Amino acid sequence: MPERTPLEDLLIRRIAATGPVTLADYMAECLLHPEHGYYATRDPLGRGGDFITAPEISQMFGELLGLCLAQAWVDQGRPARFTLAEPGPGRGTLMADLLRATRAVPGFHAAAQIVLIEASAPLRTCQRAALAGYEVTWETSVEALPEAPLFLIANEFFDALPIRQFTRTGAGWAETMVGLADGTLTLGRASETRLAALEHRIGDTAPGDVVEIRPAADPVMAAIAQRLNAHGGAAIVIDYGNQRSRGDTFQALRDHAFADPLAAPGEADLTAHVDFEALARAAAPARATGLTDQGALLARLGIGARAEILARGLTGAALENHLAATQRLTRPGEMGSLFKALALYPADCPAPPGFD
Ligand code: SAH
Repeated sequence: MPERTPLEDLLIRRIAATGPVTLADYMAECLLHPEHGYYATRDPLGRGGDFITAPEISQMFGELLGLCLAQAWVDQGRPARFTLAEPGPGRGTLMADLLRATRAVPGFHAAAQIVLIEASAPLRTCQRAALAGYEVTWETSVEALPEAPLFLIANEFFDALPIRQFTRTGAGWAETMVGLADGTLTLGRASETRLAALEHRIGDTAPGDVVEIRPAADPVMAAIAQRLNAHGGAAIVIDYGNQRSRGDTFQALRDHAFADPLAAPGEADLTAHVDFEALARAAAPARATGLTDQGALLARLGIGARAEILARGLTGAALENHLAATQRLTRPGEMGSLFKALALYPADCPAPPGFD
């Protein structure tokens, strides 16, 4: 039997003392516990880590999304001072690519105040290195962003926010809980409750169906929407998920493979799919675009032309890697359709390019 992690011991003691915890509590402890949490203790990204993200696959991702945000800024009359924000910026790669690509947009950098929202100390160190030469500030929550026009991008941020999971019963829901069996962590279900947050799902689910909600996303979306409506701007959210939550998507990734989410707490990345309809609802009255596949969005933003230009300078293995990366980001069945994009924008402005 594998040795218990320090966080596993803490969780077992806590559950023994006060009873089973929700998946949200479990996820929050595993990801963000200040001493033993997954993000608190490492840089999980890249080939040597547990998972790889689109900006780490190709520079084109950050370049094209950066130009998309810059075009939205131009379309809104180039506000003289605005916040350029990224929650969950990982290694800072996306922001670095975005800033390089937007150097050619007159006035954009001069007007931008770059703010990164990051909980992880090791990743802040990576971000500082990636963005050397730029003036950057860090916050721990989106609610702390300045009252100013806001141009924001979030890639694979929301999937890391804790979820609660429910199984439909007759007229209500039974919550998935992490409890103990024979002294080890185990999943169980609480007794049936009615839940206002899931009233709208009674109509499209049947007993036995599983749905997930992400309470921590609501205040984040509300804070973004408030700034968009009061000051202007645009927000792009990219993640895996669907229009509506359906089914058990709680998962652990370790060393680029799926793992048991209860094994080795604090040592694996825990995520769940994003319910984009819920994000859009929490952002009202800001407008939300329809959901777009990542591949279709990148195609409309010009990845074909950009890939061709980059390919001209490459030969051999570098060229093959570049072509494979382009396909990985865009192909249906790969990230091209697994990942979806949503944009939010003020009611009196056009949607950012590529979304409409
Ligand atoms: N956007 C990056 C990284 C995705 S990994 C990329 O595409 O490569 C998730 C990121 O969100 C990490 O930077 C992680 O530290 C951060 N994160 C997770 N939960 C967070 C929280 N509650 N508050 C702030 N940052 C968080």
